Amino acid sequence: MSISLRNVRKDYDQQTKVLENVSAEVQTGEFFVIVGPSGCGKSTLLRMIAGLTPITDGEVRINDQVVNELPPKARKLTMVFQNYALYPFLSVWDNVAFGLKARKLSQSDVQQRVEHALKMVNLTDFSKRKPRELSGGQRQRVALARAVASDAEICLMDEPLSNLDAQLRIKMRQEIYQLQRKLGLTLIYVTHDQVEAMTMADHIMVLNDQHVQQIGTPSEIYQNPENEFVAQFFGTPQINILSAKRSAKNHHLLTIGSNDLQLALDEEVPRDQLRVGVRPDEMTVSSAASSVDANAVVKNTEFLGNETIVYATPK
Ligand code: ADP
Repeated sequence: MSISLRNVRKDYDQQTKVLENVSAEVQTGEFFVIVGPSGCGKSTLLRMIAGLTPITDGEVRINDQVVNELPPKARKLTMVFQNYALYPFLSVWDNVAFGLKARKLSQSDVQQRVEHALKMVNLTDFSKRKPRELSGGQRQRVALARAVASDAEICLMDEPLSNLDAQLRIKMRQEIYQLQRKLGLTLIYVTHDQVEAMTMADHIMVLNDQHVQQIGTPSEIYQNPENEFVAQFFGTPQINILSAKRSAKNHHLLTIGSNDLQLALDEEVPRDQLRVGVRPDEMTVSSAASSVDANAVVKNTEFLGNETIVYATPK
């Protein structure tokens, strides 16, 4: 089940223009992550794919069929939300079975699917419990089980892990990834967390400022960011962005502060007002013989065990 977005636009009203010209191809069985800062329109885009929010302009296709006018039910997809959306008075089992019963499946079919889904997410022993008797991670697993049981080939997830603590997020990240691979789901996953995007995605779409900034594999996005926003959004600690210009002495030298840097610069790179991005892990630190020889001043250091972060400004 592939998904295609073509020049999708969304204005909630004249004042609230959220997305413009969003195009993307999501292949069958792919883990596709939509990432961007809070408020950039990620949920809106996901809801438009689901059919929960109307599209202002453009096309959404599922398996090459335009679905703009199709109601959510007819799109054959399932959704997992941040707040789990569980029924508090129903048991785990009944929460998973709920959607299936509404679809009028036979009792044995429902039984089989719920059993299978609970097994997939390791909740078989919890089937009689109510949501309030579960931990946050277990509740999210019930929501995942519901997606598994639905048998839909497309699953949309909106920040499913953001209510969980840091350690549990890492664990659930792996569980979702393994589940997606095992089931061969086409999964579109929304998050504001660049680490989640980098660790799970086959392809990442970076959204900001109403536009798609870049679509690529995690390594393409990290190594060849399309612009400064993308470069700064990925990587901890953040990429260094330094002002620079071409050296007056030699066109192939770049001057940053009082330092000249030998770089193979193309002729078309302008002379002045350059911005240079350097990932922290591409830099090495050595101590200078005297402060006169130093090319940077250390402001602060943070010892983290396996690495030490050095904050410095160029001289
Ligand atoms: P994200 O998921 O990236 O945090 P959203 O898609 O939730 O962003 O919201 C994008 C923008 O659209 C925000 O400015 C938000 O206030 C606005 N917005 C979201 N839903 C509605 C709505 N139903 N009506 C009007 N504006 C909305």
